[in-house]
Amino acid sequence: MEPASDSNLSSPLRGTEKVSQLVLFPISVEQRKVEEIKEVRPPLWKEVLEREWNDWRWQLRHRITSLEQMKEIIELTPEEIEGIKHSKGRLALAVTPYFASLMDPINPNCPIRRQAIPRIEEIHLSKNEMVDPLGEDKHSPVPGLVHRYPDRVLLLVTDQCAVYCRYCTRRRLVGSHERSITQGNFEEVLKYLKSHRKVRDVLLSGGDPLLLENERLEEILGRLRALPHIELLRIGTRVPVTLPQRITGGLVRMLKKYHPLMISIHFTHPKEITETVRRACSELADGGIPLGSQTVLLKGINDKPYIMKKLVQELLKIRVRPYYIYQCDLAMGTEHFRTSVATGIQIIEKLRGHTTGYAVPTYVVDAPGGGGKIPLQPDYLVTRGKGKIVLRNYEGKVFEYPEPNIIEFKKARSVGEEKVVPKKVMA
Ligand code: SF4
Repeated sequence: MEPASDSNLSSPLRGTEKVSQLVLFPISVEQRKVEEIKEVRPPLWKEVLEREWNDWRWQLRHRITSLEQMKEIIELTPEEIEGIKHSKGRLALAVTPYFASLMDPINPNCPIRRQAIPRIEEIHLSKNEMVDPLGEDKHSPVPGLVHRYPDRVLLLVTDQCAVYCRYCTRRRLVGSHERSITQGNFEEVLKYLKSHRKVRDVLLSGGDPLLLENERLEEILGRLRALPHIELLRIGTRVPVTLPQRITGGLVRMLKKYHPLMISIHFTHPKEITETVRRACSELADGGIPLGSQTVLLKGINDKPYIMKKLVQELLKIRVRPYYIYQCDLAMGTEHFRTSVATGIQIIEKLRGHTTGYAVPTYVVDAPGGGGKIPLQPDYLVTRGKGKIVLRNYEGKVFEYPEPNIIEFKKARSVGEEKVVPKKVMA
């Protein structure tokens, strides 16, 4: 194949109608099916009343937190047994009965199981791993608040989650006390925000903000909303996936009072999208809350393009806009979850152009140490020539695009077609 260069771009261009059929490399997309799964209540909970099962507080009270309980519903492998034994004093084990009911009890490679049950690999630490991979602590002016970007802050309102994800970036914090932010610390946060009027966007996270009782969450949202410079409130949560029973009419009615309010939901695998999750997302979307998804790229769980494609397409069907795919951070004991960056770029390659644009998330690396999110994508710009560029499309076909240039403007003026020459002309 002849590489495109300035020298082979010498023919006159009129817009984009000049199309080369040169194909840099053919892009094929693997077509495989991901079977939907249904909740199958393990015998342990067969007698539980429907009313109880659908009560989020019942779900939270009955989380599986010990090896003995887990053994009752799953045929654990030696690696998982050792992982659970060693999880004490590290990231706690906690799984809601609902999320456990999605697990394959005999297949240790079940994606739901792999996310929630510790494995022995967690005790293997790599030299690249960090306690605080995103440098949040050093960007925390007051306890509970992270101020890393100029106009937005992250507010950690609790350290509790419904299920502890084994790859959690914030594993240094989550699950340690299962407590919400103290009133004293929240007052400090408000004081800080009042004196930083450039902050226009507050993202509530944790832990999981939707584990707070409605009254407490409303107090936090209401007091933030009362600050005139706070334009946008956002909530980052995994609860619609791991504890969808929490999304009640009462919660949505309360959230609606604080628009503009957006929710980012942490989805990982298409198998998480059950009927119960569909209902939860529908309640939120009907409440006028824009929903986005955030997905961590995980080895052996969702690192195949056909799995991600299924996930993003299913998300659109439940009115959740795929927002980010995150490269797995360098949190302690998570090396076994990390893929190469090339894997993430390849996934975007197999989504962009191959499915609805709304379904294509931004793939980002959150820079270690606190540099913020850095977007990555396949290279579609083949070369940049003088006055023209060469691009390739999703099929690998090559196209030339003429940039506006000074010669064209001058020519136009000389024949009286154009009186005004722009001061600044792109080359
Ligand atoms: S829900 Fe989020 S904060 Fe909680 S354990 Fe999972 S990744 Fe960590």
